Amino acid sequence: MRDAPRRRYLRFERAFLASGPTVPLAGQSVDDIGGAAPGEVVEDAAILVVGNRIAAVGPAPAIPVPPGAEVIEHPGATALPGLVDAHVHLMIRRGESFIDLCRTHDDHQLLVRSAAHARQMLEAGVTTARDCGSRGTFLQALRDGIAQRLLPGPRLLTCGAPITSTGGHLWSCGGEVDTAAEARTLARRLLRDGADFIKVMATGGRMTPGTSPGRAQFDEAELRAIVDDAHRLGRPVAAHVLGTEGMAHAIRAGVDTLEHGNWLDADGSAVAFDEPLAREMAVRGQFRNMATNPSRTLAELPRNAALDANLRRDLAEHHERWHWFRRGLELGVPSFYSTDAIVGQWDGESPDMAWLTILIAERSGLPVPLVLRMATAVPAAALGLGQDLGTLAPGRVADILVVRGDPLTHPRALRAVESVYRDGDRVA
Ligand SMILES: [Zn+2]
Repeated sequence: MRDAPRRRYLRFERAFLASGPTVPLAGQSVDDIGGAAPGEVVEDAAILVVGNRIAAVGPAPAIPVPPGAEVIEHPGATALPGLVDAHVHLMIRRGESFIDLCRTHDDHQLLVRSAAHARQMLEAGVTTARDCGSRGTFLQALRDGIAQRLLPGPRLLTCGAPITSTGGHLWSCGGEVDTAAEARTLARRLLRDGADFIKVMATGGRMTPGTSPGRAQFDEAELRAIVDDAHRLGRPVAAHVLGTEGMAHAIRAGVDTLEHGNWLDADGSAVAFDEPLAREMAVRGQFRNMATNPSRTLAELPRNAALDANLRRDLAEHHERWHWFRRGLELGVPSFYSTDAIVGQWDGESPDMAWLTILIAERSGLPVPLVLRMATAVPAAALGLGQDLGTLAPGRVADILVVRGDPLTHPRALRAVESVYRDGDRVA
């Protein structure tokens, strides 16, 4: 006889369900993915978890405790969906160089440090993470170990080596190609080796000396070869793009997510926003993931603190980024943000998803419920996992972040993690 699935009855002061019709998706909305009302908040909330899924969520009096269920109380706490950080690099720490790291560490060493970072990320409330570039296949082993509950960590999506041009952005990860045929072959090899998605470097990047962030590394036909093959095999494509030229190629080649999408001119020094191109993205339903890496100092500052010259420059740069991010949203580009980093909170330097969320909630001018959705429901949809993740709704996987206080009125409550549930298990 099979055991009945374990039942848990969780009680909170409030729950934020996180889905809502904010980001238009080619005429539809994220609501069509999420199912619940926009940013709905339930007071005196209960969540019934059966096995690894949410069976019911709503006001506690409306959800009776089933016989035999384990009851867990979280008084004074808010439940929200586990955070989804859709652009990280698990092996690297802030301030390190990819090229040096690849030279000085073998895959075993990179695996060990990635495993340590995965645990820290989970404890900070991230229950799903997409690694956007590493080396070899060691992250697939970590992903599978976490899924088998051998190691603590967020649910991982991996791509292995990013596809890049010879000497191009993150070439040291081993994914160099120069023709459409080579790109196709490498994409097939990566998928054969267990990649969940393909990452392609459509422009140069700031971390790789000798590349041009404002310039395309592949033409549209080369990118399309990669997209066609990945889509044929049922896998999405994420494109690193900083410059507008590379964005145009990636959008027209049909990639699924544009990572960064900073609209830089050819020099990589100024913004060259292309409104018709943004509208094209909106119509195609391609997601923009503003993977950004501000200093934690910026997030820690009290709102009215006096800023020194460096912080003022940092903040001005981010305000400009958020301005164009908001403009994209207004035009209907499905948009969200990620850390482009590792966890970071342990070393006092790198930002993590909670810090970034706090920074954007406090300084971007966007409504807090929307900011929280862009850390949960929207990235889940962008990864093609919106039916399972990113909202607290019946039928969804029980990935739940419990924080003390109310992050909707005081975003810094996101740092007061009380508990984390992943796949219905209490993991932190
Ligand atoms: Zn990155």
